[in-house]
Amino acid sequence: MINSSIKSKLKGIVGEKYITDDPVELYCYSHDFVSRALSWMNRDYNLTPDLVIKPLNTDQVKEIIDIANNEHLEIIPRGAGTSYGGQFLPIKGGVILDFNRMNKILEINTEDNFAIVEPGVLYKDLSKRLRNTGKGYWIPCNPGSADVCTIGGMIANNASGESAIKYGTTRDYVLNLKTILGTGQKIQLGRLVKKTVSGLDLLSLFIGSEGTLGVITEATLQFIALPESFITVLGFFDSIEVVVQMAKKIKDYIIPMSLEIVDQLILSGMNSYLSRLTPKIVLKVVEAALLVRLDGDEKVISDHANYIANLISRNKYSSDVKILRGIEHDYLWKARDGAGPSLLRIIRPFRNVATFPPAIMDFSVPYSKIYSLMNKLAEIMKANNLAFSRLGHLGDGNVHLLCTIPLKSKADIQKISDIQNELVKLAISFGGSVTAEHGCGVWKAPYLDLEHGKEVIELMSKIKSIFDPNNILNPGKMYSINKLALFPTTNK
Ligand SMILES: Cc1cc2nc3c(=O)[nH]c(=O)nc-3n(C[C@H](O)[C@H](O)[C@H](O)COP(=O)(O)OP(=O)(O)OC[C@H]3O[C@@H](n4cnc5c(N)ncnc54)[C@H](O)[C@@H]3O)c2cc1C
Repeated sequence: MINSSIKSKLKGIVGEKYITDDPVELYCYSHDFVSRALSWMNRDYNLTPDLVIKPLNTDQVKEIIDIANNEHLEIIPRGAGTSYGGQFLPIKGGVILDFNRMNKILEINTEDNFAIVEPGVLYKDLSKRLRNTGKGYWIPCNPGSADVCTIGGMIANNASGESAIKYGTTRDYVLNLKTILGTGQKIQLGRLVKKTVSGLDLLSLFIGSEGTLGVITEATLQFIALPESFITVLGFFDSIEVVVQMAKKIKDYIIPMSLEIVDQLILSGMNSYLSRLTPKIVLKVVEAALLVRLDGDEKVISDHANYIANLISRNKYSSDVKILRGIEHDYLWKARDGAGPSLLRIIRPFRNVATFPPAIMDFSVPYSKIYSLMNKLAEIMKANNLAFSRLGHLGDGNVHLLCTIPLKSKADIQKISDIQNELVKLAISFGGSVTAEHGCGVWKAPYLDLEHGKEVIELMSKIKSIFDPNNILNPGKMYSINKLALFPTTNK
């Protein structure tokens, strides 16, 4: 509980209108996909903040952090709240710092190709500005949630998506950050150049730190020229294993912009989305499809597309190879981006409130292990009699497993936990990672020891204690030694 004199001080900073402890509003900040499903059964998963504050500028953030330090308040920065890992959950109450008012694009510089933005700017809005600037620019590290997520959230999560194989992750576009540390100290990290070896790379440390080291109040991002054209080669296959082999051949020929696998269920989900659009596109529902997106000079990528289409057509397990351009191309990728949510429309258990959502399953493994991982995922799900679906960014070895687990009793939570433990151990035994892009937050945090070893986690915690000695920033998350294990884990 935060007492009334502290609340008054905070109101004095942002104004009465931009601070709330109204239970209805707090409820809107108290869940993510996972905890909402769990909270139907167990009140411990109702993770309500004590206050929500919406600052307008850096000075206000600094004053809030100073009060938090003096009064031992816990601060959870929040962008659009789309994280899959429970990163923004107020697991011990505290104050949510909602950045939606800090949403100004401060500068677009086309001489040196950088944009300076406040953290609450939506990726979508920045992209629109860049597309319409000069000859057209972009920052090609968009996650599937690009239409709704914020730049601050993308940086803090080091978000990435279907184009990471060619263009990397958010980290590759951040030149400069202004942040306020847990100590209240204002610092600036990075320069206006991409190439520098002057000292330790603290900028990089903040990217992907999930709001645990400092609060980002301004970011400078590099942008690049938009490609002239986009083309996608789409091939349907009777075997997931063959898709994985085919993708390797393509990867060894050229680095495409995207190299995606989707399975049968996802194809049905994509069809349910595409059926609402004109012109009509109907995807063949087979074991799996491979989507190869190319970008660049029209002539060059047309040649590459023809080569790849020919390669796929010659494979005896493939059928219906298509080369998509223009509106059909764009619709296909909209459908792919919405693959997870579109499953909600077609799988019955997803309509049931007591269903475990698809959020937790995000792994990466070395390429040679992708098929084994996907295969094992299927075996585990089948053994547990659960509906599931697999998709992935093949170029990065990043596999997602979507599944539905109806939650009716505590035993079901244990079941999720057991399944997750098994999958995590498998990915790690393959030399992989427990999360490729969705982040650690609370759901994957308990497995970090397993991936990195205790000594490394202790080092991470020591680093945190330098930037945030009073542990006020997003406590209990990621590498925190005292993290809350909301799932019963068996990894010790
Ligand atoms: C449909 C869907 C598809 C998705 N697809 C992808 C995908 O392809 N790839 C991917 O990487 N992720 C994906 N995500 C996850 C998520 O959308 C992204 O990671 C996104 O970048 C999070 O942005 P956000 O604004 O919602 O941040 P939030 O979820 O609000 O916050 C994310 C983290 O950033 C911290 N934070 C926010 N603002 C600040 C700040 N100013 N200073 C310091 N810390 C801050 C928060 O504390 C939290 O730890 C997807 C999510 C959905 C719902």
